[in-house]
Amino acid sequence: MIKLGVSSCLIGQEVRYDATHCYDSYLVEILGKQFQLVPVCPEMEIGMGTPRETVRLVGDAANPRLIAPESKTDWTQEMRAWTVKRVRELVAENLSGFVFKNRSPSCGLANVKIYPNTGSVSQIGRGIFAAELVRQFPSLPVTEAEQLQDPTVRQDFLERILAYSPSR
Ligand code: SF4
Repeated sequence: MIKLGVSSCLIGQEVRYDATHCYDSYLVEILGKQFQLVPVCPEMEIGMGTPRETVRLVGDAANPRLIAPESKTDWTQEMRAWTVKRVRELVAENLSGFVFKNRSPSCGLANVKIYPNTGSVSQIGRGIFAAELVRQFPSLPVTEAEQLQDPTVRQDFLERILAYSPSR
C-alpha cells in the first residue's frame, strides 16, 4: 500500500498542546482507505509531552528558533537534531507524500508566523519539521490538510502522489 505521512493530530491523536486533536475526516475516511497513513508528531516525539506550553518560531526567517515564550524554553536544538534523524527514517519508509497541519511552528508548510526578536514586525515561513522534510525530500508531494478542502487541490495532490509512487 502506498504510504502517506501525516501530522498525527490530523488523524485524531490527542497530541496538541492542549491534549486535543484536529481530526480531518477527508484525510482519515477517504485518503486513509487508499493509503497507509504514517503519523508523525514532532513536538511529542522530541519529548514535549501534552498538555504543554505552546511554542513559536522566533528570529531569522531563514533559521528561526523554536521558543516556548512563557518559560523562555528554547527547543531549537532538540527539534533540529530530531528532525534531521526522523526525516532520514521517513525517507527509508518510502513515503509517497505528506499532509501537514497548517500554521504549526513544527508542521506548517507555509505562512507560519515568525516572531521578531525585537520590535513588532513578523515574518512568515515554514515549521521546522516541514522545512527539513522538504529540504531532504524536495520532490515529495506535500500539502496542508486545510488546502485539501479545495477539490482542485485534492485532485492535483492525488495525481502527484500516484505519479511519484511508481517511479520510486
Ligand atoms: Fe504535533 Fe504537528 Fe500536530 Fe503540532 S501540528 S500537534 S507538532 S502533529
